[in-house]
Amino acid sequence: MESNWLLLRCKCGQSFGARQGATASCSRCGETSQITTTAVFTDSAKLTEAVAKANLPSEIKDEINSRLGEKKRKQLTTRDRASSAMVHRILKQSTDERGILTLESLRNSLDLEGVCEPSAEQIIGMAELQGVVQRFSQEEWKWLA
Ligand SMILES: [Zn+2]
Repeated sequence: MESNWLLLRCKCGQSFGARQGATASCSRCGETSQITTTAVFTDSAKLTEAVAKANLPSEIKDEINSRLGEKKRKQLTTRDRASSAMVHRILKQSTDERGILTLESLRNSLDLEGVCEPSAEQIIGMAELQGVVQRFSQEEWKWLA
């Protein structure tokens, strides 16, 4: 039987996802006990989407919701928000020769590219959820893909 995917919220305000039954720890602060389940999904892609939305500032959430409602409308291009292809490239270039990605190197790369959204924490959270990176130490992630 396939297990469900949970949208979880930490006391620090970070939302993140985990497979049901797995030990969940906050992708921002590492908290494992004071976590509440806010939604349940059967599809990991839906969960990924929900996590991304939950961690977005509300004004961006509104913009995305209105965009989703008008899918056919030409998308606005915003200089300071990265596309997923760009995020992927930034993740790659933030990874050192050992395959280790740090929040600091990711922030530096985002700065260089002039990207404000999504934040380094949001990108790491997404990548972790998608199984692209795995937490290695407090501020380091190992590249798996
Ligand atoms: Zn937390």
